Amino acid sequence: MKWQSPISPGISWYEATVPDRPAYPAMPGSRRADVAIVGGGYTGLQAAYNLAKGGADVTLIDACRFGDGASGRNGGQFGTGQRAWADEAEEVLGHERAQSLFDMAENAKRYVLDFANEHRIDIEFVPGQLSVGHKKSFETDYRRHVDQMAERFGYPHLSFMDREETSSRLGSSHYHFGIRDTGTGHIHPMKLLVGLTRQAALAGAKLYEQTKALKIEKKGGAVIIETNRGTITAERAMIACNAYIGDLEPVTASHVMPIRSFIGATPVLADHPEILPGGESVDDSRFVVRYFRKSKDGRLLFGGREAYTADNPLDISSHIRRQIREIYPALADIDITHAWGGSVGITMPRQPFCREVMPGVTSIGGYSGHGVMLSNYCGKLYADLALGKATELELLRALKIPALPGGTRFRSVLLFLALSWYALRDRL
Ligand SMILES: Cc1cc2nc3c(=O)[nH]c(=O)nc-3n(C[C@H](O)[C@H](O)[C@H](O)COP(=O)(O)OP(=O)(O)OC[C@H]3O[C@@H](n4cnc5c(N)ncnc54)[C@H](O)[C@@H]3O)c2cc1C
Repeated sequence: MKWQSPISPGISWYEATVPDRPAYPAMPGSRRADVAIVGGGYTGLQAAYNLAKGGADVTLIDACRFGDGASGRNGGQFGTGQRAWADEAEEVLGHERAQSLFDMAENAKRYVLDFANEHRIDIEFVPGQLSVGHKKSFETDYRRHVDQMAERFGYPHLSFMDREETSSRLGSSHYHFGIRDTGTGHIHPMKLLVGLTRQAALAGAKLYEQTKALKIEKKGGAVIIETNRGTITAERAMIACNAYIGDLEPVTASHVMPIRSFIGATPVLADHPEILPGGESVDDSRFVVRYFRKSKDGRLLFGGREAYTADNPLDISSHIRRQIREIYPALADIDITHAWGGSVGITMPRQPFCREVMPGVTSIGGYSGHGVMLSNYCGKLYADLALGKATELELLRALKIPALPGGTRFRSVLLFLALSWYALRDRL
């Protein structure tokens, strides 16, 4: 039977192509653990896998099914670096810290590919990424970025594409120029999620679905997590709820803003060999980023539309089809076989949020659209930290991400207005 995530709209094409997504039981009653993890996406599951492998008694719960948040439903693009460009971050943080954050993201890329390789998880990795410009005025910045990344950040895999090269690599003349990145690629996100969950279970982590954390507090030296299925008493805990945090924990909620993004899948494009002949994934320069790629079997997976309120759009497909038509007029009437969405966790500076929100309780999220590789790696880094090893997580803790403006009452209204303004500028 088809499974509809209770927290994210639509049934994804990924879901349809992973028929053996296993179900895990709800927590059978109260229990103790060395480490408790709330949230079963990449962040939480990687932490659980690495902690269990390191000998810790770890319990992970998710309110729904693993992957029902962003991890089973995303665009699958690794990207390179943090969401904010390293040369932009350098202006605020200085070269050394910007370089360390960049290196961390490179380690994240390697970590995910090595993990999948080691456990023979077929994540359908396809190399290559094209970042394309929709406004001519951005060209100087894009050219400079290519040079800066090679000369100052030691990343030689970018090359600038003029209009002609951009058109022939995309199969569309919609964009003015672009950057080709041969040092990254894209994957099937649900295949990674399912393989990771299996490995976490095999390593000995106790994994429970349909188990919702209702309250987290520190009492008598222990962390107490009340759930709808009993209480977990742990030495320490990790909150890995990211954009789905809701009102569980106020510090995370005031720093990580949920923005909803939507994706549509077309049938296999057998008659359009001109579209993305090199198999790269694409993201564009709009504030409301359009991101697309072909699946390994040749469908166009196209992400674009965003929403800043909690309501689900009635019709995801027609909006996605309109955006596809702008870039690929030949696909004007293309069928959308699957349309779905999910919540991306964004922070003000577009860098990850990592903080001890109460003694012994660390929250990590807010990867700002670069979470496919970063969330996996941050889960691993949290496990290393809990097992007493020094980790790069310190780099994220030192970022001191500011709270979103507006306080609890006005935050969503202010952000709705600000984000709508930026979205409007894409069209000017
Ligand atoms: C449509 C879309 C496209 C995206 N595209 C890309 C992309 O191309 N590249 C990229 O790098 N990133 C992309 N992202 C972002 C990326 O998917 C995320 O950064 C990453 O998956 C975050 O993983 P996570 O484990 O931190 O959070 P999630 O996977 O969102 O997991 C959070 C989990 O917490 C659980 N939870 C929440 N509250 C509770 C509670 N009270 N009790 C128990 N459990 C709870 C939820 O059920 C959920 O399973 C995209 C996201 C979306 C939605």
